Amino acid sequence: MGMIKGSSERIIDYLRISVTDRCNLRCIYCMPSDGIRPVKHKDIIRYEEIIRIVRIATYLGIKKIRLTGGEPLVRKNLEYLIASISNIPKIQEISLTTNGVLLKEYAHLLASAGLRRVNVSLDSIRPGRYKEITRGGDLRSVMEGIHEAERAGLLPVKINMIPIKGINDDEIEEFARLAIETHIHVRFIEFMPIGAREIWSQERSVPTDEIKERVSAIMPLLPVKVRGLGPARYFRSEIARGAIGFISPVTDHFCNSCNRIRLTSDGKIRPCLFSETEIDIKSEMRSGASDKEIERLLRLSVAIKPKRDSLKPQILMEHERDFAFLRPMSKIGG
Ligand code: SAM
Ligand code: SF4
Repeated sequence: MGMIKGSSERIIDYLRISVTDRCNLRCIYCMPSDGIRPVKHKDIIRYEEIIRIVRIATYLGIKKIRLTGGEPLVRKNLEYLIASISNIPKIQEISLTTNGVLLKEYAHLLASAGLRRVNVSLDSIRPGRYKEITRGGDLRSVMEGIHEAERAGLLPVKINMIPIKGINDDEIEEFARLAIETHIHVRFIEFMPIGAREIWSQERSVPTDEIKERVSAIMPLLPVKVRGLGPARYFRSEIARGAIGFISPVTDHFCNSCNRIRLTSDGKIRPCLFSETEIDIKSEMRSGASDKEIERLLRLSVAIKPKRDSLKPQILMEHERDFAFLRPMSKIGG
C-alpha cells in the first residue's frame, strides 16, 4: 500500500512515540513546579502495543521513528523496544530525544540494539544555570552523555536549545560556537506556550530571525538543503564543523512541512501538537481491534491533521489562554 498524504498533501512518514510521561528533570519551560500527575501504570502503552502500532503504521508509509517522552531513558528495557522496532521491515531509522542525563549509561547498549541518532535537549552550558532551568539537573552528566553518544556512533549528535529571554538567551552565541568547534549540530527552537504556564509570555519567546542575526554575526550562514521533510531549517558555515538548525513553530510556516504524527504515552494518536484532538488507539487495541481497524484509525488520524498555516504571533496572542492549557510536552511526546 502506498504512502499516505495528509490533508494538504504532505507526506507523513514519521511517527514520534512518547514511551513515558515521567521524567528525571523538571525543566521550567516544560513542567509546572508541582510536577504533573503521571499516567497510571496500567494506562501506559505497553511495548508490545507500540510494536504492533509501528508495524501497522509502516503499511501507511511510516519509515522513521523517534522515541521521546517524558524522559525515554527512564523507561526500563528500552533496548528491547528499539531492537524490536528495528526488526520491522520498512523502518529505516530510529532516533531518540533525551535530556542526556542517563545517556552515558545507555548510549552503547541502545546503539547496538539499533538506535541510529540522538537529539539532546540542553538549554545552558553553565552548571548553575543548567541546574536552575532543569530544577536540579547535573550538567556534567549530560556532557559525558553527549561524548558517550558520539563514541557509540550515534552521529551526528544534535543539541536542541530553547532560548528564553532573561533566562538563557545570552548563551545563543556560546551554543553556536559548539557547532564551530565540534561536529555537534545545534538547533535553536522557539519557546512555545505549551506546558509552561508559570513562565510563558510572548515576549520571552526569542524569534528565529533574532537568533539567526546573532548567530550570523559570529559565523556566516549558508543554507543547506537536507534530505527529508520536517520543520528544521539547516545552515552550515565555512568556519564550522557542525551545522546550525532553526525550528520556528511560533514565527514561521510550520504546518505545511509537518511530516509527523505522535503516539502519546497513554496510547493515543495525536495528529497535531497544537490541537487537542486525539484518537484512543490503545483502548481499541485492548478491546480486540483487528489490524485492519488499527490501520483505519491511523489513516483517519493523518486525514484529520489540521491545515492551519502557522502559529503566527497574532494567532498565539488570540489563543494564548487555550494554548497555555494544552497538555505539557512531556505528556504529548515533544
Ligand atoms: N525529556 C526529553 C528531552 O528533554 O529531550 C524528551 C521530551 S521533551 C518534552 C522534548 C522536547 O520538547 C525537548 O527538546 C524540549 O526542549 C521541548 N520542549 C518542552 N517544552 C517546550 C516548550 N514550551 N517550547 C518549546 N519546546 C519545548
Ligand atoms: Fe523532562 Fe524533557 Fe520536559 Fe525537561 S523537557 S522536563 S527533560 S520531558
